[in-house]
Amino acid sequence: MNKSKWDYSIFWKETLNQLRSEISEQEFLMWFDNISYIESTEKKIILSVPSSFYRDQVKERYLSSLENILHNLSGSSIEIDFSIKTSPITAKNEKPKKKSVTTTKNKPKPETVINKNHPDLSSDYSFDNFVVGDNSSFAANACMAIAKNPGKAYNPCLIYGGVGLGKTHLIQSIGKYSYENSEDIRVVYVTAEQFTNEFIQAIKDRKQHDFKNKYRKVDILLIDDIHFLQSKDATQEELFHTFNALYDSNKQMVFTCDRPVSEIKNLTDRLRSRFERGLNVDLIPPSFETRIAILKKKIEEKNVAISDEVIELICKNVTTHVRDLEAALTKLIAYADLLNKEITVSIAKNQLKDMFANPKLSNITIDTIQRIVSDYFNLTPNDLRGKKRTKAIAFPRQIAMYITRELTEYSTTEVGLEFGGRDHTTVMHACQRVDSKMQADPSIEPYIRNLIQKIKESGTKF
Ligand code: ADP
Ligand code: MG
Repeated sequence: MNKSKWDYSIFWKETLNQLRSEISEQEFLMWFDNISYIESTEKKIILSVPSSFYRDQVKERYLSSLENILHNLSGSSIEIDFSIKTSPITAKNEKPKKKSVTTTKNKPKPETVINKNHPDLSSDYSFDNFVVGDNSSFAANACMAIAKNPGKAYNPCLIYGGVGLGKTHLIQSIGKYSYENSEDIRVVYVTAEQFTNEFIQAIKDRKQHDFKNKYRKVDILLIDDIHFLQSKDATQEELFHTFNALYDSNKQMVFTCDRPVSEIKNLTDRLRSRFERGLNVDLIPPSFETRIAILKKKIEEKNVAISDEVIELICKNVTTHVRDLEAALTKLIAYADLLNKEITVSIAKNQLKDMFANPKLSNITIDTIQRIVSDYFNLTPNDLRGKKRTKAIAFPRQIAMYITRELTEYSTTEVGLEFGGRDHTTVMHACQRVDSKMQADPSIEPYIRNLIQKIKESGTKF
């Protein structure tokens, strides 16, 4: 470390020690494992953080405590500043096979890691090949913390978000990491659909006892896509009891879902409340920069040469899922292989024109937006088009207007007409209001992003 005139690294170390004693170990590792001291100036400590999301969360949660502790230690006001360093947190900084410096304190880990393949898990999914972006850093860090210390915190954990955003990748990575790094750990991964089918089969074969034994005697239970349990009453009942048995014995559970649990219809309240217990984290669509990083990683894995121009072209045009990014890449590689040609921008444009035509946007109608938004808020499309201005209707209406402006080419005048003949200034005002509400209340944005994702998906083949 470069020793400048001002070196507050010792203060920083002690500040961390003190904070560590105030919060849980899991919480500490989650936020501070990836932060490091860079340098100091007269009144400032500069730390590196992996993303702006990280910086904002740490600021919001801990900045005042950290600055207080620093003040007490140093007797002067030292500010904390953050510099973003975007190295992938999990893959580069900490390979699973390395001895962990932070988590082995209480629990000895096996020295040698056997290269074991878990029968339920795909070798394609690991933390090493998951690219952490602003859209996923909270979820990825939580998953890593769980994988390192199953059952200790964030239990249960629910990861939710639209299709193709990495839920299966993350939940399987937890299983893989834990399985490879512990000797006798029982990990079970199933989709909710498999769980349901197995349960039905067990009833048919009168083997409920075996079924219970399988699921209630695990150390880590990973269930993917729990929205599938909608209306499956008996399976829900069974999972409820499984949940309780595992929860009582501090066994880790992780679930994924394509929407927030509150939106799963026909789910018993008691199971819903179990899912909502613990940590719920969402995955949102990646930004342009993250899409580039993901695509580059995929290209590296496939060991092909694709120019930056083509990469940019794909990422500018494929804006929904990571799965679509992969599909675009696979198509290009297949084409290039077949014809033994280099992939130029014009070949890419030509080959991917169906994907680039952006069927999502051209297919989206105001009707669809009104239907999906009103459904989400338990209203009817007519409520959004009507005259009522009660709070329960006015804000959903503003959200619907905002989304219409985001996703379609309609002018504010046209949007106003479709929403009960309102004036274009009303539409402009609505958009501004949604914008400022999103900024003031961070819980709003994920809901709106979710709605946007849903609306986009409604225009696709899915
Ligand atoms: P979901 O379960 O949310 O529908 P998946 O986990 O199946 O999505 O992800 C779809 C595809 O995209 C998978 O091949 C996955 O490996 C890839 N993927 C998603 N997010 C990332 C990421 N952040 N980094 C690397 N690959 C990703
Ligand atoms: Mg999935």
